[in-house]
Amino acid sequence: MRLPAILFAASAAAFAQAPTGIDLGAIDRAAQPCNDFYQYACGTWMKNNPIPADQAGWGRFNELADRNRRVLRTILEKAAVDSSARTPAEQKIGDAYASCMDEKTIEAKGLAPIRPELDRILRISGKQALAEEVARLQSYGISALFRFGSGQDSKDATKTIAQLGQGGISLPDRDYYLKTDAKSVEIRAKYLAHLRKMFELAGRTPAEAEGDAKSVMEVETSLAKVSMDRVALRDPQKRYNMRTVAQLVALAPDFDWSTYMKTLGVSVESLNVSAPDFIQGMNGILGGNLKPYLAWQVLNTAAPRLPSAFVKQDFEFFSKTLSGIEVMPERWKTCSLLVDRGLGEALGQKYVEVAFGKSGKERTLQMVGEIESEMAEDILAIPWMSEATKQQSLAKLKLVANKIGYPDQWRDYSSVKITRDDLLGNVSRMDAFNYRRMLDKIGRPLDKSEWSMTPPTVNAYYSPAMNNINFPAGILQPPFYFRDGDEAANYGAIGAVVGHELTHGFDDQGRQYDGEGNLRDWWTPEDAKAFQDRADCIVNEYSGFVASGDVKLNGRLTLGENGADNGGIRLAYMALMDSLAKHTLSEMGGYTPEQRFFLAYGQIWCQNIRDEEARKQALTNPHSLGRYRVNGVLQNMPEFQKAFGCKTGQPMVSPNACRVW
Ligand SMILES: [Zn+2]
Repeated sequence: MRLPAILFAASAAAFAQAPTGIDLGAIDRAAQPCNDFYQYACGTWMKNNPIPADQAGWGRFNELADRNRRVLRTILEKAAVDSSARTPAEQKIGDAYASCMDEKTIEAKGLAPIRPELDRILRISGKQALAEEVARLQSYGISALFRFGSGQDSKDATKTIAQLGQGGISLPDRDYYLKTDAKSVEIRAKYLAHLRKMFELAGRTPAEAEGDAKSVMEVETSLAKVSMDRVALRDPQKRYNMRTVAQLVALAPDFDWSTYMKTLGVSVESLNVSAPDFIQGMNGILGGNLKPYLAWQVLNTAAPRLPSAFVKQDFEFFSKTLSGIEVMPERWKTCSLLVDRGLGEALGQKYVEVAFGKSGKERTLQMVGEIESEMAEDILAIPWMSEATKQQSLAKLKLVANKIGYPDQWRDYSSVKITRDDLLGNVSRMDAFNYRRMLDKIGRPLDKSEWSMTPPTVNAYYSPAMNNINFPAGILQPPFYFRDGDEAANYGAIGAVVGHELTHGFDDQGRQYDGEGNLRDWWTPEDAKAFQDRADCIVNEYSGFVASGDVKLNGRLTLGENGADNGGIRLAYMALMDSLAKHTLSEMGGYTPEQRFFLAYGQIWCQNIRDEEARKQALTNPHSLGRYRVNGVLQNMPEFQKAFGCKTGQPMVSPNACRVW
């Protein structure tokens, strides 16, 4: 084990063999690993990688996402060339992209594509017409009042049921409407000005626009007031409230649910109302004038796809004011994203053909297997859990399914009509297809083969209700996974991600579901209490971390993710230890395998972020900022401290180290 004193004086021979998987050039050698490991691992990277003007932040995730986007661009530009040699799928993705890139046609059409919808809203009269319009808007992807869709039944995981939830606000979170600090007040004033400008662009007189803007703000503020906050929304028990349709009608009698369901072509006797207080509270605003609000929803959803005056104004508020982004991204980026969002599996299939090697899938599967067996060992070794709960945990772990890369069966978009000259029509049809597809699942058995991320996505997820972990092809690449790269670094990067997802099965939310995906309490009360106490330690720890200025992280909002980070890296480390016991790894670049493991982990989180964005994320994102995903975790971890020779009293050695798993 190397000590810090000789960390910077490794032999020339050791330096000669540069490890793949960590970026030696990213390291800030003036920083001390035991004082601020994030600065040490990422300091020079942060200095050399300022945030691009069109981004809210920039990190290693973004670098990879940017590479993936460029692959998509090549695929899409090729598919966009009008030719009879294209396959039907190529025609769809190519023409969707072409219609988005064709700004001349978009300018020429002006507001015409949404004019009929705006006129229809003006003609609304009475309860029935309102319900019809809300259903219509939602059916092609426009937010209105609340959300309705399908989802797995938490208490009978084999079934898909109708789900009704809160929604209908345009700012990123209810807190944006309710907080009274100076910054929040300022953002609301800017939002009101934005609403006014957008209505004026849409042809309203200044006086009308002023009135419309105020009306929208009132409606959205009323919805925000009755919305559950994000911490409450993380509680799956609170979100589970089965109601008959008659009970729903009693909850919000002023909404014509019967017409609404009929318009959507849905027939159910009961449904899960995830936020009953919201639905009840929403009833209180139905008597007012909702026309400006509904018109705004149409305008706001369409804005990025309307003529440039709308695109610019939309950017000014939602990107510049809320996230601090300075310039608009190039059009091709917006258009690639649009196709990924609407026809993600047709584009994803092409992406996988071009960019995903077979070895990535095999190696990841092998690593998943190793980390799952480490989790079993970890569970058995836990001092605070009874034998009974351990056996239940192991039974759940055994049932975790692994999905790697891309779906077994690709989604069939053949019924979606896509043309080269109709961007807004294309988007409406793509959204309508995806929404219909979701509604059609109501009453059907659950399909566990579904993916909720597209293949080029740089991310991964665990689904507690399906009890599976999912790794899209997009993340199985450097800097997460290096084919034939240094094993120590691969364990520290993709290994920690695998461990993170697996730990989600046992975090404060995941632990409430059993191996079949049912929301069922399988913990003894003593073990649940022991878990809670340990989780509270993490809540307190992360609540102290500063996001920006006077805004700190919300330890309760980020608990699940922080727990997964802390547990996940431990599992990956155990897997590295087992691997090292079988075959030793030599020192590389002046670092031991253990040190490379932690450097690789630290470096996947290298990040620069704008103040506005950090603020927004602290309010809305269940993940902690990169700095704390590194330092928060490692200050809890004796294995890290040993690898770098950190001593009690140094900042990277927490005096109150937290540990759940
Ligand atoms: Zn996570």
